[in-house]
Amino acid sequence: MVVLHCPWLHVSGMALWPFVLIRDKRGRADASLMLHERIHHRQQRELLILPFYLLYVLNYAVNVLRYKNGEKAYREILFEREAYAMDTSEDYIQQRKPYAWLRMFHMKH
Ligand SMILES: [Zn+2]
Repeated sequence: MVVLHCPWLHVSGMALWPFVLIRDKRGRADASLMLHERIHHRQQRELLILPFYLLYVLNYAVNVLRYKNGEKAYREILFEREAYAMDTSEDYIQQRKPYAWLRMFHMKH
């Protein structure tokens, strides 16, 4: 995982496989931020990168129509639900099953 410092970034972190962009240099030491982006890398790899972004944007667009709230629409993207649910579980990456984000489709929250 190659971490790049990008002070112009409008969010604290962003996964663009094989890179992770962080706004604040101290983000490198933020274990949950790093795990969150690592989970996105797994999602991106298993979807062969480009389809991940298409599904991400599509899921966001559907959520905007559904919730009419940008923040809620973002948090409810299946990829984000998995990442936010698991980014404080240190050993999650080792235990994670492929396409784990699909389970979020049926999981109550
Ligand atoms: Zn995320």
